[in-house]
Amino acid sequence: MTSWRALVGAPTSFATLAGQAAIATAVARVASTDPEYAEAMRIAVLLALAAVLAAGASATAAPPVGSILPVTAADLRHSYRAGCPVGPAQLRTVRVSYRDFDGRAQVGRIVVASRVAPDVLAVFRILWSERFPIRRLQPVSAYRGSDDASMAADNTSAFNCRFVGGTSRWSLHAYGEAIDVNPVENPYVRGSRVSPPAGRAYVDRSRHQKGMALRNGPLVRAFASVGWRWGASFGDYQHFSTTGR
Ligand SMILES: [Zn+2]
Repeated sequence: MTSWRALVGAPTSFATLAGQAAIATAVARVASTDPEYAEAMRIAVLLALAAVLAAGASATAAPPVGSILPVTAADLRHSYRAGCPVGPAQLRTVRVSYRDFDGRAQVGRIVVASRVAPDVLAVFRILWSERFPIRRLQPVSAYRGSDDASMAADNTSAFNCRFVGGTSRWSLHAYGEAIDVNPVENPYVRGSRVSPPAGRAYVDRSRHQKGMALRNGPLVRAFASVGWRWGASFGDYQHFSTTGR
C-alpha cells in the first residue's frame, strides 16, 4: 500500500513544485512595477498558488479507480443465458484502473463471481502498483460473447458462460472464477494449436516480452497472493483461476 501511494504521489509532487517555482518567478516580476497593480497581482498570484496546492493535494489523495458494482444488462447481454451455472445476482463488475502497453492509466471493467470480487480488486491494485501492462479490459459481452474475438483483440476478461474448449463441461469462466490476461502475449497452446493465432509469436516462453505471464513474475505473483493458480501446467498461459483448472 505504501508503494501504491508513493507511485501516485511522485508525479503530482513534481508538478506542484514546478507550479510553485513558476509562481515565485511571477511574484518577483510584479514586485518591480506599479505598487497598486503589484498588490492586485500579488493577490491573484496567491489565489493561483492556493489552487495549485489544492489540486496537488486532491490528486495525491485520489486513489486509482477500484469499485465493485452490480452487473448491468449490457455486461451480460452476450455472455449469459438461462441455464448458466451462476446468474446475475451472483456476479459483479469490478471497475479498475490499469496501465496500458504505453504505461498510460486506463479504466476497465471485468465481470467475476461476487464471492471473489474483493480478491480480483486486490490483484488489479497490485498490477497497477507494479505497472504491469494490460492491453484491454472489457466484459466479453463487448465481443458478442465470442472467446475467439475477445482473445484476438488481446482482451483480458473473466465471466463467460461457456464450456471448456472441445468439451460439454462448464469452464470456470462460466462461474466467474477464471480470468484470461493478455491472451495474445499469453496464448493457449495445445500441441500445434495456438489460441489466439497471433499468440504464435509468444509460444517461446523463454523470450520474455511485455505483458507476459512468467513464473515468479508480477502477474503470477499477484494472483498467487489471493490463492489463484496459473494454467501454464496445461499450456493455458493466459488463464488464472480459483482452483487451477
Ligand atoms: Zn481461461
